[in-house]
Amino acid sequence: MTTTCCTSARAGSQFVKDFMGTLTAANPHEPEFLQAAQEVVTSVEAVMEKKPQYLQGNILGRIVEPERAFQFRVPWVNDAGEVKVNRGYRIEFNSAIGPYKGGLRFHPTVNLSILKFLGFEQVFKNSLTTLPMGGGKGGADFNPKGKSDGEVMRFCQSFMSELFRHIGPDTDVPAGDIGVGSREIGYMFGEYKKITNTFVGILTGRGLEWGGSLIRPEATGYGCVYFAADMLATRGETFEGKTCLVSGSGNVAQYTVEKINDLGGKVVTLSDSGGWIFDGDGVDAEKLDWVMHLKNNHRGRIEEYAQQFPNAEFHSRNDSLDHNPMWSVKADCAFPSATQNEINAVDATNLLGNGVYLVSEGANMPSTAIAQDTFVDAGILYGPAKAANAGGVAVSGFEMAQASQRLYWTRDEVDARLRIIMSSIHTQCVDAAKEFGCEGNYVHGANIAGFVKVADAMIAQGIV
Ligand code: NDP
Repeated sequence: MTTTCCTSARAGSQFVKDFMGTLTAANPHEPEFLQAAQEVVTSVEAVMEKKPQYLQGNILGRIVEPERAFQFRVPWVNDAGEVKVNRGYRIEFNSAIGPYKGGLRFHPTVNLSILKFLGFEQVFKNSLTTLPMGGGKGGADFNPKGKSDGEVMRFCQSFMSELFRHIGPDTDVPAGDIGVGSREIGYMFGEYKKITNTFVGILTGRGLEWGGSLIRPEATGYGCVYFAADMLATRGETFEGKTCLVSGSGNVAQYTVEKINDLGGKVVTLSDSGGWIFDGDGVDAEKLDWVMHLKNNHRGRIEEYAQQFPNAEFHSRNDSLDHNPMWSVKADCAFPSATQNEINAVDATNLLGNGVYLVSEGANMPSTAIAQDTFVDAGILYGPAKAANAGGVAVSGFEMAQASQRLYWTRDEVDARLRIIMSSIHTQCVDAAKEFGCEGNYVHGANIAGFVKVADAMIAQGIV
């Protein structure tokens, strides 16, 4: 084996090819999981040379296998009295450094591959936060969009009536993700409390009145912008005057916009699954309030933005194109905050061609492998998701700490701690990349730094 830290995920040495060949044969229908695994295995190959105990202990072979995975039936009754059924999952990926921790996603595209990729990424992300949290992920192929509150409640109750037996404050602590916000967390928490007759921190993202933490809703978006600010600082720059592209218009996107505005930048795009808007004047605080109201209270469509603010343009989603024209808007920075693989190779080239030199990923794995290599090869400031969006789970960790102490920290205290953790993640990425000879490569930096801590814990705990 030769040390090839700076090879891209595409290049791959013989070691990576052999490993991925075996993994692919074992998981042939899981492209997202294989994509996430290939990236990490490529990054950590060089670490194997320095720490032969990882090879002897077959750490890679063990770390790509979830410790436990559940799939279950979720029956529920809709408003018309019809019996519906969805498929629920929980992947308990790795508990070497703490209880399983990671969100629940309710979206029609949810399947085992997507949840395994998310759970796998979560292992390294949680390790980077410096907090004692293992990695997990779960969800269901249920679409909350267009459902009444009653239908969502009955679904959440049915989902929790099975999930409850697998989770616990010291075992596995789920949170929200796409399609799971404060409403869904509330319904699931209520059901857990009723079944078990306990009021404990088994879910994070709870309401402030019932065990939640200040800044949890803001944390992923704020953290992603803090990480970007640290990347800009390496070049002596700030957000002042920067034009930014943000995709999505959900939780992560909303607070990404808020923090960019706070720091003097201007956001000119937002999107949802129906299309995207361009607002050359910028999505200022007042417009952002309107978007939050639209999305969080009315569950409306981003298309309505252009009706409300006539200077803005709406562009419908067009899947017949080989690229998303939103990523061709002239800008300095991009914050993909919607979903996985939303930036493909053409989009990445278009972003670079239109002036973008910083990408900070709010969504999980929003760039395809080739798009990611395009950014790394171009030498731009590219903050991969597992580092840049770790702020959400970090504040979930704070929520767990506050819940077990039965006290609340102030908004300023949580925000200050979040800021410190994002800087620490940035430093870990920079230092690990430097140590392994690929300075400035945040992908390798994040993967190596996240991996080493988990691998050392696995070695210490024996073959379990
Ligand atoms: P939300 O459900 O609040 O918002 C998701 C947004 O992305 C919506 O605007 C949605 O549009 C859009 N979107 C979702 N799927 C697609 C798709 N297939 N095509 C186009 N647009 C899509 O989710 P979050 O903001 O919480 O999550 C966004 C991303 O951030 C996800 O990748 C998630 O895993 C990641 N993340 C979230 C964290 C959190 O704390 N919430 C923590 C770390 C990562 P529409 O409403 O039309 O579906």
